[in-house]
Amino acid sequence: MADLVIRGATLCDGTGAEPVRGDLAVAGDRITAVGRVPERGTREIDGAGLVLAPGFIDLHTHYDCQLFWDPFATPSPWHGVTTVVTGNCGFTIAPCRPDDRETLMQLLLFVEGMPIETLRAGIRWAWEDFAGYLDALQAAAPGVNVAPFVGHSAIRFWAAGVAMRRLWQSPPPRAPAPYGNVKVPTMVGGIKGVDTYIGSIDYNVNALAQALR
Ligand SMILES: [Zn+2]
Repeated sequence: MADLVIRGATLCDGTGAEPVRGDLAVAGDRITAVGRVPERGTREIDGAGLVLAPGFIDLHTHYDCQLFWDPFATPSPWHGVTTVVTGNCGFTIAPCRPDDRETLMQLLLFVEGMPIETLRAGIRWAWEDFAGYLDALQAAAPGVNVAPFVGHSAIRFWAAGVAMRRLWQSPPPRAPAPYGNVKVPTMVGGIKGVDTYIGSIDYNVNALAQALR
């Protein structure tokens, strides 16, 4: 017996095929029937006038911080998003040493327009490496799937340390970033990719990509 049957919805199966009106049955965490479902479900939902589709993956988000005070990544799920990719545009809040927290928040303020007061109040800093960030995120119990990129900017601050903090006050360097001292496995465990943006090209992204392989 199906645990759930949704009836009479407009079904979009994700293949690009034309939408069709029909039913969908779920048992456990599996879709067991699509089309005409004669059996009754433990729970029934009238899908008339509604679209039923696979969850959308939002490939470009900046929910890295917001998930701590809004685990449902509002308003993305309202629009059908079930997976968010974070860490875009080269910005993340891990890896991060305590001395660099304010700087990484200022980057998000400067580039993404996030209110610094909100970031200071909402981020539950409890990590230095990326694995620690993922643990903290898990503890926040996200209501969406999260596929995290690690941001180039955070790695650069991590790798260059004090020198980078001084550079933040001056024009960007032309020399390759000193990525050689990055402890790759412990720093970036659990990531789905690395992300940067066009303005970071001076920072030798190729060297970073090599370090992360
Ligand atoms: Zn972005």
